[in-house]
Amino acid sequence: MNDYKKTIGIEVHVELKTNTKMFSSATNGFGITANHNITPIDLGYPGTLPLINQNGVELALRAAVVLNCQINKEMHFDRKNYFYPDLPKGYQITQARTPIGVNGYIMIPLESGEKKIRIHDIHIEEDTAKSLHQEGHSYLDFNRAGVPLVEIVTEPDMNSDIEAMAYLEKLRELLLYANVSDCKMEEGSMRCDVNVSVSKTEKLGTRSEIKNIGSIHNVGLAINAEAKRQIELLEKSEKIIEDTRRYDEKNNQTILMRVKETGNDYRYFPEPDIPYLSLSDAFIKNVQENLPVMPEERRKTYLDGGISKINADKLIQNRELSDYLLNFSKINLVIASNLLLGDISSYLNKSNVSLNNTKLTIENFKQVVDKLEKKELSSKNVKDILNDLMEKECSLDEILSSNNIQNISDVSLLREIVLNIIKANEASVKDYKEGKDRAIKYLMGQIMKETKGSANPSVVNQILIDELTKL
Ligand code: ADP
Ligand code: MG
Repeated sequence: MNDYKKTIGIEVHVELKTNTKMFSSATNGFGITANHNITPIDLGYPGTLPLINQNGVELALRAAVVLNCQINKEMHFDRKNYFYPDLPKGYQITQARTPIGVNGYIMIPLESGEKKIRIHDIHIEEDTAKSLHQEGHSYLDFNRAGVPLVEIVTEPDMNSDIEAMAYLEKLRELLLYANVSDCKMEEGSMRCDVNVSVSKTEKLGTRSEIKNIGSIHNVGLAINAEAKRQIELLEKSEKIIEDTRRYDEKNNQTILMRVKETGNDYRYFPEPDIPYLSLSDAFIKNVQENLPVMPEERRKTYLDGGISKINADKLIQNRELSDYLLNFSKINLVIASNLLLGDISSYLNKSNVSLNNTKLTIENFKQVVDKLEKKELSSKNVKDILNDLMEKECSLDEILSSNNIQNISDVSLLREIVLNIIKANEASVKDYKEGKDRAIKYLMGQIMKETKGSANPSVVNQILIDELTKL
């Protein structure tokens, strides 16, 4: 069974984050009362004319750029004709012949290193209405009709569930950071169809397409379930029929929806109501040069700054924290990221707020990180002032003094305190000399008490041991 090679190609539909639909002025929004967000253009009423949403083209271009595609500067839209209730016009406006981007690729991270996944093309199209099948009835919500989409099609370059999932994670990360889409699979703004085949030879096997899988995790499960089904058929010397299937999560199997009609005739022809588009060099250059800071660049900065790989990934996964770090050019990244991923994240989770909605100022954050670095504050100090930092509009000095925290950084001052404690606790010093470990803990406790917890414990510990060994 193991000598079969799996082959996977993926088609992803992503809704673009524009304000309005691709060809009309209706809002591009989620969660609006069904059929309350439609214009006559979205329904293709006679006499209406579509108008291209420039921002839609710009976002699609940005996606094409981050997917390393060649750009089709001269492009047009096509009509894809078919009859289905979710398609009010009887055709979908798409780009069959001149996709905005072709021949791209992305690199996906695998345990064995990086792998290149080629992008066949990325094209702009409009979304269809959403159909809902409930209790024997079918319902249609035309709010989605005309929402701008890009479809991103890979070459059949993936060979396992792991690779397919890594591709989707990477694609999602790129499109999120490029501000192209919010990529929420649960809201349908990112949807994927997965093509799977198996073969024992170099020649690819017949594929099945699994439509609309609801999560990246389920893509992995669906691929394995489908490959197993195909291998079982082949082992029984049966033929695979090219078909379209869906993934049934409950029984972990793929279920036939329809056999793929061969010779599908969509009667594609250029959309006569939309003029041919010519993207100027200036327009393309502007998009290329004004990309947001992309994840790879951020990851490099993090790793160069000494952040662990795990924490770098955590930051990238949390766009808000990652963006926050962009505010600082000279900062200890390790300390800053520990603070963001540790105490600050717990605070945000507990209070259910976003970082932008707290009172934490850039100045205070920077100062706290600097003081931690210079050991002028301990992590305990930071925990003690965290609520104030997040909730009060005060300077750090004001917060520190209202919390009775002095800056105990001065080593000579600390040494003085240590010596006093040693003098006052002769019995414990004797215990220490006799090898009783508890004695040092007791002495540390006395010093921390004296400094009200504001001294850096590791610095104090070092001074204490220094002085004790001198005795
Ligand atoms: P269609 O026109 O039916 O959508 P395409 O040729 O555009 O078909 O391919 C759709 C997707 O299927 C692409 O991502 C492609 O990589 C993938 N694909 C094509 N052939 C195979 C195969 N034999 N096994 C797995 N995936 C395949
Ligand atoms: Mg296709």
